[in-house]
Amino acid sequence: MSQESFVIDLRALARDGRRLEGEVPVSRLGRVAESVLEPAGTVAFGFQGERDGEGKLHVDLWIRGSLVLQCQRCLEALQWPCEVENRLLLLRPGEAPPEDELENDAEDALEVEPLTDLLALVEDEVLLALPLVPRHDDCDPPVKAGVDEEISPFAVLRQLRGKV
Ligand SMILES: [Zn+2]
Repeated sequence: MSQESFVIDLRALARDGRRLEGEVPVSRLGRVAESVLEPAGTVAFGFQGERDGEGKLHVDLWIRGSLVLQCQRCLEALQWPCEVENRLLLLRPGEAPPEDELENDAEDALEVEPLTDLLALVEDEVLLALPLVPRHDDCDPPVKAGVDEEISPFAVLRQLRGKV
């Protein structure tokens, strides 16, 4: 697998209305890899730039993948379909978002430096999308010890953190 760089001038991509797509192993997304049960599989993503009629720069992004999380009920592996779609308004560093943008839930404002690491952006978006308490639709808790606290999500989180 090549270590292709995804550090690009995002503003230029938006200005030119270009599209960029890629795919990386989950293991290359450091913070995501630490948050899942197993850093297996790949994550595909795409960025489509757009310059609107007022000259504002936008990027539509999508992310698709299947991540291995830990079910918080049975503690077994759970395949979680990651599907993210977001629209970003690109701002220069220090530029204040336009007022109407603050009320616009459909779009997030993002300050971009001259060069943006798209993989870091993908990581941020995936981390935001991760379910707080992933669970299979239908499963049973492991052998009941009588004390529910022992399998609380917080206990599992502590356990997960201990592994990092
Ligand atoms: Zn389960």
